[in-house]
Amino acid sequence: MLPSTHENDFSGSFYQTDGQLKSLFMQTPGLIAMLRWRDGICELVNPVFRQLWHNRDVLNKPMRQAWPELGEEFYQKVEQVYDSCKAANSYDYNVTIAGDDGLISDYYFDFVYSPYCNHQAEMDGVMIMGFDVTARNIARQELAEQQLLFKDITDAAATALWTVDQRGNITFVNRTWIDWTGQPYEAHLGRGWIDFVVNDDRERVISDYLRSIDNKSPLHSDFRIQRKDGKMQWVAVSGKPRYHSSGEFAGYVGSCMDITERKKTEQMLQDSEERFRSIADSAPVLIWMTGADKRTTFLNQSWMQFANVVELLSDTGYLQSNLLHPQDAEAVLDIYNRAFDKQEAFYVEYRMKRTYDGVYRWIGMKGVPRFEGEDDVFAGYIGSGMDITEMKEHEQIKNDFIGMASHELKTPITSIKAYIQLLLTIYSKREHDEFLIKSLTTVNKQINKLTRLITDLLDVSKMESGRLSLNSEEFLLHDLIKETVDEVQHTASHHDIVYTGKSNVSIYADRDRIAQVITNFLTNAIKYSPESDRVDINVSLGDTEVVIAVQDFGIGIKQEEQAKIFNRFYRVEGRNEQTFSGFGIGLYVAAEIIKRHNGRVWVVSEKDKGAAFHFSLPLLN
Ligand code: ADP
Repeated sequence: MLPSTHENDFSGSFYQTDGQLKSLFMQTPGLIAMLRWRDGICELVNPVFRQLWHNRDVLNKPMRQAWPELGEEFYQKVEQVYDSCKAANSYDYNVTIAGDDGLISDYYFDFVYSPYCNHQAEMDGVMIMGFDVTARNIARQELAEQQLLFKDITDAAATALWTVDQRGNITFVNRTWIDWTGQPYEAHLGRGWIDFVVNDDRERVISDYLRSIDNKSPLHSDFRIQRKDGKMQWVAVSGKPRYHSSGEFAGYVGSCMDITERKKTEQMLQDSEERFRSIADSAPVLIWMTGADKRTTFLNQSWMQFANVVELLSDTGYLQSNLLHPQDAEAVLDIYNRAFDKQEAFYVEYRMKRTYDGVYRWIGMKGVPRFEGEDDVFAGYIGSGMDITEMKEHEQIKNDFIGMASHELKTPITSIKAYIQLLLTIYSKREHDEFLIKSLTTVNKQINKLTRLITDLLDVSKMESGRLSLNSEEFLLHDLIKETVDEVQHTASHHDIVYTGKSNVSIYADRDRIAQVITNFLTNAIKYSPESDRVDINVSLGDTEVVIAVQDFGIGIKQEEQAKIFNRFYRVEGRNEQTFSGFGIGLYVAAEIIKRHNGRVWVVSEKDKGAAFHFSLPLLN
C-alpha cells in the first residue's frame, strides 16, 4: 500500500504546484523532497521520505538541520546543483538513521538532484529523488563475500579446480592449478583447456572430451601437463556439465588431481607384471593362477601349448578336467576342491593328456592360496606343475631294481646265515676254538644286520608298488612287546630297556609288522643315544586307541626335521648324525605299516634332549 499524504508534507510555494503533480509526488514509492534556495529549505517531503525519518518535522527547515544524518556530501551536492543549475547523482549513498527507540538502521540510496525553476525561469531550488537500494547493496555485499569465500576455499584445495565455458575456454582456475602451470590467473582466462595437455595425450583427451560434450555427460580422463619446473605431471580430470538458470548448457566445472605417483606405481606394477609374465612364459613348468571364484586368470605359454589352449577363456579350468586321466580325475578334483575350500596349499600327482601328441604325462602340481591387500583377502590360487613322467619312470626302474636286487640277495644270505649258525653250533661245543667262535659270532651279527637291511629294502619296494599286504590277526599286545623287548635287549650291551604301562589289551593287526615297528623304534633309540644307558617303552590306553611310546635320552631331533624323518631315505645331517650308519628307510617303513593299520605315528623331541617316538593303533570294538 502506498503511504498516505500528511499535512506536514509540503509548505510554501509548493502549495501552488499543480495538483496532479503533487499527487504523483505523494504517491511515488521513491523518496522525494523539494529544497528551496541554496540552504535547501525543505518545502516538500513525500510520505516515504517522511516515514523513513520517523515522521520528523522537517518542513521549512534548512537541510543540514532537517536531516543532519545525510552528511556533507549530500548538502554539497545540493549546493552544487543549485549553483550550476545542472542535475547530479550519488549512488549507494550510505545513511544511518536512528529511530526514537534508539534502534539504528543502515540505508543505501541512489539520489538524483534536479534543479527546478520558478515561473520566471529563475533557480528556485533542488528536487531530490531517492531510491532505497539497501537490499540490492546488501545482496551485492553478500555476493562479494561469497566470492571471497569461494576463492579462499578453492585456493585452499589440494586439487586443481576449474570452470570452462561451452566452447571449452577457461573461465576460472584456482591457485593449485596456477601453482602447477606457473602462469598468472589472467593468462588462463579465455584459453582452451586442451592447450595445457601435452601433445602426446591431446588426441586421446580431445576424443574423451568430445564424447562427453556430445552427450553432456560427466567428463573423465587423464593426461600430462608440463609444470612450471619443466617436469611432467599426470593429472586425472573429472568434470560435470554446468547449465545456466535458463537451462542452456554453460560448460563444465571440475577438478584435476595430481596422480603422478599413482601413475609411477602403476607403471612399475605393469613392468613387474610384464617381467613376471615373460619369466613365467619362458619357464618350462606349467604356471597358472585363478581368482577367488576358481576361474583361471592366467596360464603360461608352456601350459597353453601343453593343453592346446589358444585363448584364455574364463571357464578354462586350470586343471583342464577334460584332459585328466579318467583314473585320476575324481581324486585330483577332490583334493583341489577341498584345498580350495580350506584355502590351503596342496600337492597332487596325476596324469594329464598332452594335446599335441595325445600322450598322458605325469604332472606334479603344487598350488598355494594367494591373499591380497592389507586385510589379506583370499584372492585365489597360484600354482605350478612339472612334467614328472621321466622322474616317475626312473623311480619305477629304481624300485624294480631295489626289489629285484634285494630279492636276489636274500637267497644267498639265507643260505650263508644257515651255514654260519650250523658252524656256530658245531664249534661252540669244542674247546680252544675261541677265535673261530668269536669270528663266527661277529659274522652272524653282521649277517643279521644285512638281513634286516634287505628286508627293509624289500618292504620299500613292496610299498612303492602297492604289494605290501597285511596278515592281520587278533593278539595280546603285551606279549608281543615283551618278546620284542627281550629280543632287542639281547643285542644291546649298554642299554636297559624299561617297559612300563603293561596292559592286557588285544589288538587286531599284523603281528610281525607291528614287531618290526617296535624293533625299529627301539634299535633307533639305542643307536641315537650312545651316551645314555636307558630306553623306556610305555603303553597307554585311550578310548579308541592304544599308544606305544619309545623314549630315549639321546641326541634328539630339531623341530624342523621332525616331519621329514618319516620320508623315504631321509636322514638328518649334522656333525653328530654322521657317526651313525643307516639308510633312512626304517622310519618310512614303520610309518607306512602304521598308516596301513589306520594308526598314527609322531615324534616329540628337542635337539640334545632325547626323543619319544609314538605310534597308535585302533582298539578293537
Ligand atoms: P636310519 O636310522 O637308518 O638313518 P630311520 O628311518 O630309522 O633311518 O631314521 C631316519 C632318521 O631319523 C635318522 O637318520 C636319524 O637322523 C633320525 N632318528 C631316528 N630315530 C632317532 C632317535 N631316536 N633319536 C634321534 N634321531 C633319530
